[in-house]
Amino acid sequence: MDKIKMTTPLVEMDGDEMAAILWRETKEKLVLPFVDLKVDYYDLSIRNRDNTDDQVTIDSAEAARRHGVAVKCATITPNLERIREYNLKKMWKSPNATIRSALDGTVFRAPILIKGIEPYVKTWEKPITLARHAYGDLYRATEMKIDGPGKCELVFTAEDGTERRELIHNFTSPGVAQGIHNLDNSIRSFARCCMSYALDVKQDLIFSAKDTISKVYDRNFREIFKQVFMEEYMEQFRHAGLKYEYCLIDDAVSRVIKNSGGYVWACQNYDGDVMSDMLATAYGSAAMMTSVLVSPDGVYEYEAAHGTVRRHYYQYLEGSVASTNPLAIIMAWSGGLKKRGELDGNEALSAFGAALEEESIQTVESGIMTADLEKVAVNPSPHVVTGLQFIDIVQKRLAKRLD
Ligand code: NAD
Repeated sequence: MDKIKMTTPLVEMDGDEMAAILWRETKEKLVLPFVDLKVDYYDLSIRNRDNTDDQVTIDSAEAARRHGVAVKCATITPNLERIREYNLKKMWKSPNATIRSALDGTVFRAPILIKGIEPYVKTWEKPITLARHAYGDLYRATEMKIDGPGKCELVFTAEDGTERRELIHNFTSPGVAQGIHNLDNSIRSFARCCMSYALDVKQDLIFSAKDTISKVYDRNFREIFKQVFMEEYMEQFRHAGLKYEYCLIDDAVSRVIKNSGGYVWACQNYDGDVMSDMLATAYGSAAMMTSVLVSPDGVYEYEAAHGTVRRHYYQYLEGSVASTNPLAIIMAWSGGLKKRGELDGNEALSAFGAALEEESIQTVESGIMTADLEKVAVNPSPHVVTGLQFIDIVQKRLAKRLD
């Protein structure tokens, strides 16, 4: 068969460890044989970020903005241990945080639903998509260790020099303090992204925060969501028969365990980080979650929601079998190709992305899966394979289908 042609390149952001092994294998075996792939390639592996003083991450975000669609492999966010492990010049920022800030986007994480793989939460019948605000809060915090007694304050100095002060704490003994911020414009974009997405997937929307305790910060989020809804989306939601609701985060968490799913749950940055891991695990495995960063001006970055799977990488390097599940990585590629096809009016490319997704899902439905899914499989004796074997099997199915 002739390979499918592309007009606009896909921005490829390569990554680290086991995720990178599966990433390259997916590209080699599941994309390159079928697509005349055009990529604008950026190597975001920790060594190259260190060599380029992280310029490569900034360049990759600019390329995503230029071309509109990117696919990203999981990358190491350095901590002290990683600095020693890779002999790094410094503790570079999380590439995801850099890219999210550059694109001011919202991350939508949705489970990969497969017949025969049952979520741990038995009431869930429909997917729950988690929308995570991708700017500010803890991820842009300034922190201070307080060594002894003294007064710690929040000070805002306006451009005309006037000051406003709020006492954080009168320290009588050592402790810690933290300052976080967010921007009305970013919160507004977040609200719009969530509301457009909910309309797109025809699901109700919940936004949760803790405004009973955070009476200014979280209250501001709640008010902006309400205003955007009333002024821009209420009519469209009514027409579509959908609801928007604010919900205290505690209430949202207890509800999620009891209901049947089928809605978009918008969370602040930290809540979204934690809750998306909870949802992914409850749907069977960290590898059962797709993730896409959507910017308000329509830039899409597809990635797997899990990390670099370091533990498996060291097993792999030692020559033992690492049963890493490549599904979310395959879905990042297929999602990017489908969106590229859609934006370029390239139906063959979109259809290929959809075929790649279907063949991967049907492989699991036929009983062939990686070890992480064994515990949640309905079939009592699935055929367990490694991640690399799984990719080989999907390649054979795809080749047969597209022949
Ligand atoms: P991780 O997601 O890499 O792995 C945690 C555990 O989850 C693994 O030990 C494994 O048991 C399971 N797991 C994750 N993905 C799996 C898969 N595809 N198949 C089977 N099991 C899977 O998280 P971590 O160990 O906390 O982080 C490792 C590295 O990844 C860190 O350096 C961190 O900075 C980075 N990280 C990157 C991203 C990203 O780029 N999107 C996200 C999270 C963590």
